[in-house]
Amino acid sequence: MRVLKFGGSSVAKPERIKGIVEILKGYYTKGEKFTVVFSAFGGVTDQLIKMSELAAKGKEEYLEVFKEFSCRHQKSITELLEGNLQEQVLEETMKNHEVLKNLLNGVFLVREASPRTMDYVLSFGERNSCFIISNVLRQSGINAAYLDARKIMKTDKTFGSAKVDFETSYSNIKKYYEEHPEVQVVTGFIATAKGGLTTTLGRGGSDYTASLLAAGLDAKHIEIWTDVSGVLTADPRKVKKAFTIPNMTYA
Ligand code: ASP
Repeated sequence: MRVLKFGGSSVAKPERIKGIVEILKGYYTKGEKFTVVFSAFGGVTDQLIKMSELAAKGKEEYLEVFKEFSCRHQKSITELLEGNLQEQVLEETMKNHEVLKNLLNGVFLVREASPRTMDYVLSFGERNSCFIISNVLRQSGINAAYLDARKIMKTDKTFGSAKVDFETSYSNIKKYYEEHPEVQVVTGFIATAKGGLTTTLGRGGSDYTASLLAAGLDAKHIEIWTDVSGVLTADPRKVKKAFTIPNMTYA
């Protein structure tokens, strides 16, 4: 078993998603067993934070940000999917966005977005990207299935940066994968605490989700795909002169 993970910038645009589909088709046709973890589309987690903060401040502009979020996902669906599948995915997604809109209206009314509410709001990012991509993979002929990680990843109630219950999560992972042989397309970053409450594993937590899956499945490989070639000397968003290190050894 191989676990692959693609971050937000790798799925920021429909063309990039098409590229990933080609990579995965390569594995699939070779008969490789793999599962794949995705982040929310690039920038979406920040957008979800922004809309919640605006709503909590009583600013109606949160609706504008929500609209951008919703349109972006609708556009991806129409660009990536065709026919009946496009219609079904659009319908499901619109229902999901209605839930988010109601939730934000709640935040707006009570003027409060607690860490617990925030985790639930943030979960819409990964749930949307993975649901859409799993269907794009199905359309391309891969026997893929959408897996909301909240079904298998269990944590405590430290909202915003929850601590994983390894024993329960590993046993859930093993059982779920034994019973579901399709290529599982898993939401990074999100989990659940007792009572079904949505939690998150901290910003950038999708790598962690992939690692947990790899450990739980005794995977041979974990591949964290990124869209910069090699390793840079620093974070290029902070250091303008950052460059790719030409040669590197594990040591
Ligand atoms: N979407 C989350 C974030 O932006 C998790 C991740 O991408 O790993 O932090």
